[in-house]
Amino acid sequence: MGEIYNSFKIDSVASKVSDYSDRLKSLETQVGHLRALNRVLIEHLAANSNLSPQDFLDRISHEHPEKPVSETTHCKSCGTLIASDAKACYSCGKLLDSDAYILG
Ligand SMILES: [Zn+2]
Repeated sequence: MGEIYNSFKIDSVASKVSDYSDRLKSLETQVGHLRALNRVLIEHLAANSNLSPQDFLDRISHEHPEKPVSETTHCKSCGTLIASDAKACYSCGKLLDSDAYILG
C-alpha cells in the first residue's frame, strides 16, 4: 500500500513539473510573439513619426519616464501585500478606495 502511495506521489510531482514546463514553454512562446508584435508596432509608429526606431524609443522614454518603485501597502480587504499605487488587489480583486470588485 505504501509503495502505491509513494509511486502516486512521485507521479503527482512529475505531472506538476510537466505542467510547469508546458506552462513555461507556452509563456516563452507568448513572450516571443509579443516581442515580435512590439517590434513591428515600434517600427510602424517610428516610420509614421519620421524617426528611426531608436529615436522613437528615446522620445517615448523621455515623454514617459519610468516611475520610481512604488511603495507597498496591505489590502484592506484580505491583507495581501500590494503596491500602494495599485488600482485593485491582485489577490482578492478589491478595488482600492472603492467598495466595487473587479468582475471576471
Ligand atoms: Zn485583497
